[in-house]
Amino acid sequence: MNGQKVKMIGIIRHRLSTDGDGVTTLAAFHGCPLRCRHCLNPQSLGGGDGFREYTPDELYAETSIDNLYFLATHGGVTFGGGEPCLYPKFICDFRKLCGPAWRINIETSLNVPGEWVKTLIPVVDTFIIDIKDMNPGIYQSYTGQANDLVAANLRLIVGAGRQGDCIVRIPLIPGYNNDADRAASRSALEELGFSRFDLFTYKIKSNDHGTGKTNMQDTERDSSADS
Ligand code: SF4
Repeated sequence: MNGQKVKMIGIIRHRLSTDGDGVTTLAAFHGCPLRCRHCLNPQSLGGGDGFREYTPDELYAETSIDNLYFLATHGGVTFGGGEPCLYPKFICDFRKLCGPAWRINIETSLNVPGEWVKTLIPVVDTFIIDIKDMNPGIYQSYTGQANDLVAANLRLIVGAGRQGDCIVRIPLIPGYNNDADRAASRSALEELGFSRFDLFTYKIKSNDHGTGKTNMQDTERDSSADS
């Protein structure tokens, strides 16, 4: 199997309890349909010059060095980005290579066509969903996009009975939402059937002045004030 070549902005080994069970390797794709004002991974946007391209075979060869760690800890590979749901065929081909023993997780905004999410539901173990905020106005002002596809894809996941395999990240984003907005997002998600949440606060380190020109070093998560 050769498969499509896809740009990766980074591959980080030996992650523990940050993005899925056990020991994981994070494989971060280039490309994202959103333009969040405080993007956590701005390298994933833009032209992508200088990043290496991988086929599923090449990525499998590189990640399989940690096969024993994955098997011993029930870990595996977490696809992030950028937006991994832009590459459903790549992830399906990767699953064929690694087999069922590795866990495959994705960190996704779910702001992609439903067909792509449907393709991924059978091959993904854990969906880590970066919801931003469920309020359409807040979502639009923060990401530059509507969240209709997100809402439809949440219903798709519930329809497949996979809501128990989701962790939904609900951030407090200074200047965009507040505690009441976040509580409203959580209630809406609970009504849909989701029950695992990751609450944290974006810590904007630089003085952004609303330009949106932050970078990875400027935006961090701070979980200390959230529960
Ligand atoms: S979804 Fe993630 S990668 Fe995409 S713009 Fe937002 S923070 Fe950046």
